[in-house]
Amino acid sequence: MTRRPLLLTAVAVLAFAAAGAAWSQAYPTKPVRLVVPFAPGGTTDIVARITAEKINAPLGQTMVVENKAGGGGSIGALDVIRAAPDGYTLGMATVSTTAANPAINPKIGYNPTTDFTPIINIAATPNVIAVHPSFPARDYKTFLEVLKKNPGKYSYSSSGTGGIGHLQMELFKALSGTYVAHIPYRGAGPALNDTVAGQVQIIFDNIPSALPFIKDGRLIPIVVAAPQRLSQLPNVPTFKEVGLEPVNRMAYYGILGPKGLPKEVVDKISAATKKTLEDPAVRKRIEDTGSLIIANTPEQFAAQIAAEFEVYKKVVEQQKLKLE
Ligand code: GLU
Repeated sequence: MTRRPLLLTAVAVLAFAAAGAAWSQAYPTKPVRLVVPFAPGGTTDIVARITAEKINAPLGQTMVVENKAGGGGSIGALDVIRAAPDGYTLGMATVSTTAANPAINPKIGYNPTTDFTPIINIAATPNVIAVHPSFPARDYKTFLEVLKKNPGKYSYSSSGTGGIGHLQMELFKALSGTYVAHIPYRGAGPALNDTVAGQVQIIFDNIPSALPFIKDGRLIPIVVAAPQRLSQLPNVPTFKEVGLEPVNRMAYYGILGPKGLPKEVVDKISAATKKTLEDPAVRKRIEDTGSLIIANTPEQFAAQIAAEFEVYKKVVEQQKLKLE
């Protein structure tokens, strides 16, 4: 009596596994959706579109970028987590969605180390504090003096509550003993729009999205988070140089899927992305934004996400940062 169902179950499991292996070998047979958890115009969108535009040939299918902004990236992240682990819904992994936001928001609804399948980190990008030209400072020393003399007078924009811009700026405020109010947006794109328009005086952003505005003088760079000064902004000091090493951390932009993605699928996406990043034209476009190409393995990216999550948990705990 008990043998037959057991045998049937075993046969069913084997058949299912075989079917699974067959589909993952054939993958991808239709376009792949790449969820960008921030609005257009931000770095996540920039890196995603440069990569997706050229991945067709090595992937054998188109990659369709879809912006799903809100909640400091958590809405788009949850969309990826809830998708079937079949490789047809992937997401952009950012430091905000995989480390900063989950570290500060206990109600975010996911664990970045267990609910995703990390695939590849595309690029690391420096960050910058920049001001509207009407702000009365052109250098870090004056910037600090103005903020110290005028607590609460100015505000800063960020890509969203719980994002790297929010957390790093709060860390900067705590370490420098200054106060500026936080105005969160649905991504750096809309945050930049309002800052360039002068509605907000200060922005904490990632370099790729801010750089074009800095280059044409619509934003003034004050200090950058990068291992060393940027060749594009040789006169702007790093946070380390101004004595704020903990704020001197980069952002990252990679690709992940929901947990349980078959290894074959992960390997295909990883190989196709790597191949795309070997194209000199793609490399140049990414490097011209001020980013550093990483192109690591799924295991390295998983370890990096876990480590970064720990860093941000510590920042939140030590600085007693809370969601406003
Ligand atoms: N600042 C966000 C991050 O690094 C991304 C901003 C955006 O793409 O709008 O995760």
